[in-house]
Amino acid sequence: MTAFPLPRDLRGYGETPPDVRWPGGARVAVSLVVNIEDGAERSVARGGVADDLGGHWMQHRALPGQRNLDLESAFEYGARSGIWRVLRTLRRHDAKATAFCCATALEANPAIAEALARDGHEIADHGLGWDAHSQLAPEVEADLMHRSRTIIEDLTGARPTTWYSRDGLTLHSRSAMIDEGFGYDSNSFDDDLPHPGADGLPLLVIPYAGDTNDSALLSQYPTADAFASFLCGALEMLQTEGRHGPSVLSVGLHPRIIGRPAYIGALDAFLDRAAEAEAWIATRQEIADAWQAVTAV
Ligand SMILES: [Zn+2]
Repeated sequence: MTAFPLPRDLRGYGETPPDVRWPGGARVAVSLVVNIEDGAERSVARGGVADDLGGHWMQHRALPGQRNLDLESAFEYGARSGIWRVLRTLRRHDAKATAFCCATALEANPAIAEALARDGHEIADHGLGWDAHSQLAPEVEADLMHRSRTIIEDLTGARPTTWYSRDGLTLHSRSAMIDEGFGYDSNSFDDDLPHPGADGLPLLVIPYAGDTNDSALLSQYPTADAFASFLCGALEMLQTEGRHGPSVLSVGLHPRIIGRPAYIGALDAFLDRAAEAEAWIATRQEIADAWQAVTAV
């Protein structure tokens, strides 16, 4: 296993990030991330101690040791219906996303795996299940990472490009990612731009975002209009602020949330605006490749 220290970098690029442009001269790269995790959440049905109370709209109690069928169904909506609405919307805008896939979610509905590959979305690994890794021993985590990657590749025909943890990293996750051969890392919220791994770690970091994420629909933004305006405001700021250098705007999407009829309009409106603004809508692998080509990091 690769060993490395874990210093914190609070300086980053500072006031003067590399002054480069994305392909086509774009100032902002937009990364759409579709989380394929419905049915892979912690649940009694999957052998867990209780159902998952996070990341869905239903206010409910966990019932230890007892299946909670209506709670399960709130997640099932994403796999049964929401994903197809999201994919239709992406196709209409000719937008390629990065799919963070849980292996058990694809196993439960292989048609999703086929559709993601057919539509040309980037396939990434979001774990075997949508589970916490924070307490795992290094060898257990590395084994899970390898197993999920293998299953996802079998189902999609594409080798997952990266791995994204549900609940952040252990001190060993990045070593395991390097050993597994993943090429970049999104397990960070620390910047507007890709940057080298800490202390020369050979794993480019493309930070993700928790605010420009449809989970905000469950808390801060109860309507599609409010969420669309939030996303468009972020894009507008990155396009027009007097900032040196380009930016990446990550947008997190969950079929059980954005795939509901009341919410999908937010994605539609945002993609219209992104096209008007001539933002570069790209997969995270494309962003990694473009960044490394122009900055040599
Ligand atoms: Zn997720």
